Amino acid sequence: MSKNWRPATQLVHGGTLRSQYGETSEAIYLTQGFVYETAEAAEARFKGETEGFIYARYGSPTNDMFEKRMCMLEGAEDARATASGMAAVAAAILCQLKAGDHIVAARALFGSCRWVVETLAPKYGIECTLVDGRFLENWEKAIQKNTKLFFLESPTNPTLEVVDIAGVAKLANQISAKVVVDNVFATPLFQKPLELGAHIVVYSATKHIDGQGRCLGGVVLSDTEWVTEHLQDYFRHTGPAMSPFNAWTLLKGIETLPLRVKQQTENAAKIADFLAEQKQVAKVIYPGRADHPQADVIARQMSGGSTLVCLELKGGKEAAFALQNALGVVKISNNLGDAKSLITHPATTTHKNLSDEARAELGISPGTLRLSAGIEDTQDLLEDFARALERMPG
Ligand SMILES: *Cc1c(COP(=O)(O)O)cnc(C)c1O
Repeated sequence: MSKNWRPATQLVHGGTLRSQYGETSEAIYLTQGFVYETAEAAEARFKGETEGFIYARYGSPTNDMFEKRMCMLEGAEDARATASGMAAVAAAILCQLKAGDHIVAARALFGSCRWVVETLAPKYGIECTLVDGRFLENWEKAIQKNTKLFFLESPTNPTLEVVDIAGVAKLANQISAKVVVDNVFATPLFQKPLELGAHIVVYSATKHIDGQGRCLGGVVLSDTEWVTEHLQDYFRHTGPAMSPFNAWTLLKGIETLPLRVKQQTENAAKIADFLAEQKQVAKVIYPGRADHPQADVIARQMSGGSTLVCLELKGGKEAAFALQNALGVVKISNNLGDAKSLITHPATTTHKNLSDEARAELGISPGTLRLSAGIEDTQDLLEDFARALERMPG
């Protein structure tokens, strides 16, 4: 029955393991270990002959509920919940590669993701080529004999470029390589990488899945075969497991994910349209607008716009700082996906570690700002921007 539920229902009821007390809300099982009725039962559990939990680093009931609910939402067979989004990304990449392998990754990546493929992986003899992921021919040209993995995020942070996921998956399948998609910016509601042909999906659950700024979390999703062959042992023995308390918080977050993302997306779309008309604004990039440079790819692979807006001000850094400082409802923060609207200046915060050249390649200028729309009343946000722009010079 639960397989036929529509997403909003799955996200409230999916994966629930009710205890003998029949609690309405999911229980938090804060336990490290589990006891066995007999020595024979312990032996059978360790042999994998009976179902059940062994140790919280391997898996535990609250985390299991979170993983099952995420699997339903994503259309994945299996998942592992991790302590943060970066633990999920690192696990998804490192668990399946060895020295001598080669990664092709989009150069427009969340900063820490880029560090994992560009700096960490080579230390272990795993080569990486970064490409401008907007053009499929770049992915194809970068393929080597030892290419085992393609890694991308779409839309990208902060300039909201998109990658043709089905196109990359087709190239990967031709050489039996795997595609890992960091789907944070699209959210599990607006883009289904597994349906588009990707093999593994990762999330920072810290973002829209919690959506209320409380705790860190991540999740890796794929098919049973890949999880069993690659992720399971890596996960058990390197220990990136999520805390059960955070799994519980995130379970409650998932229940309201569609409501929040709907309001955030409506707010983002209206703010994007408003900003595009303002004289201080050079450019607005928003995946829901017809003037997005890759609107055709977006129409093929996304079912909604985005909760994020990228804008470029004509007045450079000075204007970007002035706008941020003049906003009242919208807060200055490098986080995203929150119920509160947040704005950040990538050049001096999230992307400050890149060279000027690398930033320019990604389209990040001193006047670029990234807005993560919250769930506030649309009119209050529009008025906040209108007032702030009025107070800006020029
Ligand atoms: C935030 C984020 C991450 C990292 O997640 P954490 O939960 O902060 O570790 C990875 N990828 C993207 C696209 C993100 O936005």
